[in-house]
Amino acid sequence: MTRAFLSLGSNLGDRLGYLRAAAEALGRGPLLEVRGVSKVYETTPVEVDEEQPDYLNCVVAVGYGASVIELLRFCQGVEAALGRVGKGDRLPRTVDVDILLFGEEVVEGPYLIVPHPGILRAFNLAGIADLAPGAFVPGRGAVRGLLAGADSSGVREFEESL
Ligand code: ADP
Ligand code: MG
Repeated sequence: MTRAFLSLGSNLGDRLGYLRAAAEALGRGPLLEVRGVSKVYETTPVEVDEEQPDYLNCVVAVGYGASVIELLRFCQGVEAALGRVGKGDRLPRTVDVDILLFGEEVVEGPYLIVPHPGILRAFNLAGIADLAPGAFVPGRGAVRGLLAGADSSGVREFEESL
């Protein structure tokens, strides 16, 4: 089993419900074991052209029993099953599932980049730190140190959890 961290995000409809449904769907995967869920963070979207609703985000720690490519396919299946509206960068969507970390693996392919570039956003670092305060990002350093240097303006702890 490889330890991986997944980022879940939603900014449409019942956002918390979508995060819960995504975490449950992930846990139903035969090769996947959910090991922990971070606090939920509410964030104002960054780098978007038009105004969009705020996101809810959380990080899920999992153990996965196959390759990172298979995990990507599985995560995309969960997104599709939950009816994401958009395809492509930074469109509003019911739920987005990204692979932040997959063990110590570094992948730089056309369809898969691990660690995910978004891992340096404060809410992702905070979510990983909730679950594994001593975690490292390959090539970047300690999550705790990266979090201390990240811009956490626009990120708030949400009152409810998964
Ligand atoms: P966003 O960049 O907002 O997450 P999408 O979810 O639509 O946008 O992702 C676009 C593409 O990103 C996916 O089709 C997938 O192939 C690619 N991708 C690259 N690296 C990753 C990763 N680590 N986790 C998930 N998707 C990834
Ligand atoms: Mg994505």
